[in-house]
Amino acid sequence: MSPSEAPTITTSPHAIAVSTAALPPAEANTTHVSYTVQVFCLFSLSRSVTILRPPDSVSPALDLMLHGYIAKTPTRPTTAVSIKTIELLYRIRRRKASFSIEAFAKLVCDYYRIPYRAYLRNLFADTFEVYVRVIRDVERRIHALLGWDTPDWRPLNACRACCYKVKGEPPLRFSRIICLDGNNSLKRVATTTGRTAGDTRSLDDASYYLPRNFVDQFSREVRGHQTKNPPTALARKLLEQCVKNWKAAAGEEKKQMWRMFDESGLFASACRHGFILWIVDMVRSGELAKYPLAIMRKILDVLDPDFMVAYDIGCSFETTTKNSSLGNDYHAKRGSMCVPAFHGYTHSHICQLQFHPNVIEGMGIEDAETLERVFGSSNMLAPVIRYASPYRRTLFIEEYFKQWDEEKYLNSGAFMLNNYTQSLEIIEQESVALSQAAAEHGVTEQSMQRWTREEREFFATLGEESEYDVCAIAYVELLQELRALEPKLSAATSQFIAFQPSSSSYSKEIKMTTKLEVARRHAIDQHSRITLELVQLEVAMGLTKRWTPLDESYKETLKYMRERHYLRALEKLQKLVVQRLFELDKLNIAETGKCYKMRTHLSKSLQVRCKTIRKALEKYNSAAAAMNPPRPPLEWDQVSHYSFLEEFTLLQDTRNDVRNREWAKPVIRESIKAYRRLNRAKVEISRLNCEVARVHTGIRDETVLFHDALASLTADDPLHGALLDFIAHRTRVNDHLLRRIEQIYVLPGFTGQRGPGEAVHDMNLDARFARSVRLTSPAAPSVAQAAVGRSDAGDTGDGDDSGSEDGLVDDDTENQMGALIQYIAELALL
Ligand SMILES: [Zn+2]
Ligand SMILES: [Zn+2]
Repeated sequence: MSPSEAPTITTSPHAIAVSTAALPPAEANTTHVSYTVQVFCLFSLSRSVTILRPPDSVSPALDLMLHGYIAKTPTRPTTAVSIKTIELLYRIRRRKASFSIEAFAKLVCDYYRIPYRAYLRNLFADTFEVYVRVIRDVERRIHALLGWDTPDWRPLNACRACCYKVKGEPPLRFSRIICLDGNNSLKRVATTTGRTAGDTRSLDDASYYLPRNFVDQFSREVRGHQTKNPPTALARKLLEQCVKNWKAAAGEEKKQMWRMFDESGLFASACRHGFILWIVDMVRSGELAKYPLAIMRKILDVLDPDFMVAYDIGCSFETTTKNSSLGNDYHAKRGSMCVPAFHGYTHSHICQLQFHPNVIEGMGIEDAETLERVFGSSNMLAPVIRYASPYRRTLFIEEYFKQWDEEKYLNSGAFMLNNYTQSLEIIEQESVALSQAAAEHGVTEQSMQRWTREEREFFATLGEESEYDVCAIAYVELLQELRALEPKLSAATSQFIAFQPSSSSYSKEIKMTTKLEVARRHAIDQHSRITLELVQLEVAMGLTKRWTPLDESYKETLKYMRERHYLRALEKLQKLVVQRLFELDKLNIAETGKCYKMRTHLSKSLQVRCKTIRKALEKYNSAAAAMNPPRPPLEWDQVSHYSFLEEFTLLQDTRNDVRNREWAKPVIRESIKAYRRLNRAKVEISRLNCEVARVHTGIRDETVLFHDALASLTADDPLHGALLDFIAHRTRVNDHLLRRIEQIYVLPGFTGQRGPGEAVHDMNLDARFARSVRLTSPAAPSVAQAAVGRSDAGDTGDGDDSGSEDGLVDDDTENQMGALIQYIAELALL
């Protein structure tokens, strides 16, 4: 490529560092030193380029870049790759994160008709990294100009739907719904000892990552504080029942395995629209409390109060947080926690009453399973980073989530439209159901509220295992043990006494006597150990007389033990059914794809799990039959249906008085469910009304911001071209969003305000350039109007696509399936 071609690259958004003004004047070239380097360019297929160094040259690498090439070393480059070639790799990788650099290097070799050699992979990897860093620097400068670089700008502003508050909007119960979760797919294999890794750099401009030393501050939190402030009986119970069931505990059992990996995965946080807030590396471990605590610290320091955090083990994590050094701030900021919907069904019923999104007012129709989707997608990065240096792994993950967030911004229009439509449908359906119930069964709003309250009270006391019960069970178990031991002891004693030595062999007799003596001693020891424990329990329980099988308390405890057995069987069954339905739910999401093979594989895995469920069902039925009076058995068809999920809690009632309650009647239960769904849909709509206004206002204000920012730069400013490109791209995305917003505005049943409002904090106030126009331009609304008009006319070139690109394309489906299969594989370990 000749220097005269170089200006073409300056039009590229990614080459603002290169300016035509910086090129040496042609006539001066005669006095310059020249040198030749080997190059790779997919577009020209040139093999070498001769560079004329100007007298004021700063570095050969910069000279090369001015000619459109990137070298891997700054001082004495011998090989370089054209910027356009690397830009192609960059764009491919943005669309397909699993596309490896090695594959690209091989592709280039194919075009050059040369055999692939390993050093080329390094050449492309190194030049790619230089390119990415240049891009990041350009973006940093653009963001700085726009004022988008204030501390924590991204978590505070990137999601307009969550953040760009508009004056006069109705208050929302939760300022923000944030999801937390960890995932182990993005692990990196630890380098073997002895071989020191060359790349010890750390990424200094990380935006998503919280530094390791920040995270490590929280490693001692859990132990240090819990002894000071022991959890309440209920909290302890929640902890025992819920945490044991789920993956956090399972993760720790794999401790040995984690040693293989330096970074063993990611712990991430995202808003309900999928925008990533912060991420941390999990280091040689599963999900430890320090990871969510570190993110919670940031939430408390940076975000608004009244937030809601959804986490698989949110129930116990709330106790952890309250008992940690974050406790006071968590309280002061009025934080709340819940368990994502599907995970929530596997938690105990007491937990669900408090932590399930279905019962939390203000959650809308949110399932809070956002991170399942995030990780489902980020898994594709796994093969590329498994052996990368820590620096490159971090860089790739950062770049990946940057791209992810851009897509989430584009999709936030479809998100709001879909949720709005779905909520309107729910309102329509359930209103009909409720008016029917009112006509046929006299169900009123008041009775519904009363039943909901009664149900809550009933479940709050249901299945509470008091301290006494636990002792009583241990006591009865010991009595049973003692009773079983008594005949053994008397047999051993009588055998010992009755032993008649014969004179046949003295040594044999000694052996026999010793054996009998040992058996007797052993029985006596056991007997006295049990007796001691019994006495200790009797003292603890305040018993004055030892129980016998005829005592009422004894009988009651036995009954209670049977119930416990029944409840355990029920819990196990419930957990398995929920997991299966969760898998099926995801399968439906993927139904649009054509991934037939994956689906076949998946349904096979599900069948195996169905066998497990059938076994659990059999166990449940036998435990139900052993109850006094026996409980009716459950049928397979019954339990394997969505509508049964909430019914599981009713089966927890072992006192058998639930049947007499009015609210437990099937018709009423249907009405209560309809009532809840109706209310959640209404909440969702009021949240969406705010969100739509925020996004629209954000777009309008961005239009002003972009216009003024561009006007503040002269055409020969190095940043001008890049800013122009940035604005062009963002405006196209905004036009797309405006089309979705228009679709929401015309929905029959839309109750929000049409059109943008006035921001609580106008982004234009943060911009860092000298303005030639007034701050709040009166032309602003018309600019936004023009944008709407423009997209209506379809002159943006991409036409209306009716949401097809918001849906899943085949590759995404494939990724989801991959993630799902891994998920199921992990379930099998439990
Ligand atoms: Zn959001
Ligand atoms: Zn729980």
